[in-house]
Amino acid sequence: MPSIDDASVAVALGANQPSAAGSPRETLVAVRPLLEDLLKSWSAQELVFRWSSLHDTAPVGGPPDQPWYCNAVMLVEGLQAPPSVAAALELLDALQGLEQQFGRNRSQEQRWGPRSLDLDLLFWGELRLDHPRLQLPHPRLHLRRFVLGPLLEVMQGLAPT
Ligand code: ATP
Ligand code: CA
Ligand code: CA
Ligand code: CA
Repeated sequence: MPSIDDASVAVALGANQPSAAGSPRETLVAVRPLLEDLLKSWSAQELVFRWSSLHDTAPVGGPPDQPWYCNAVMLVEGLQAPPSVAAALELLDALQGLEQQFGRNRSQEQRWGPRSLDLDLLFWGELRLDHPRLQLPHPRLHLRRFVLGPLLEVMQGLAPT
């Protein structure tokens, strides 16, 4: 049985506003190959990607009456370089660049308000970070069914290390 390797990266995807790619669901489908390419160029190597299905979820927190979300999780395995702060910050920059490419505009947002694409870094192996721009593991990971559900799905069938 394959096991989860000790330097896996997990990214949570979410959207509840249309983008140039279409509906939130269409956005998550369109972003998938781009996110794989992004991880490959960031790591400069070939990787194994495991994807959850797309989950339609009720909004949690933020303004009342915002639309439902589409959520997914991507697990990235086979990374050879050990987790590092500098590389994690570079990955965050690249993820935020991809959010912008899908129309995300942080300056016009309310906290936890509607967005065309949200890409959160959930963890990178056991790296713990409390940087002003990046906390790892994601501090609210354990509180969110819309993250835990898809994460469990991608980890299903992987033996613990
Ligand atoms: P939440 O973090 O509760 O899911 P959010 O995704 O709505 O909220 P954003 O507005 O997308 O929050 O991001 C705010 C800032 O959070 C980002 O600019 C980024 O610097 C910071 N941040 C800290 N830790 C992380 C992380 N693990 N992944 C992504 N962004 C992070
Ligand atoms: Ca459409
Ligand atoms: Ca988020
Ligand atoms: Ca975010």
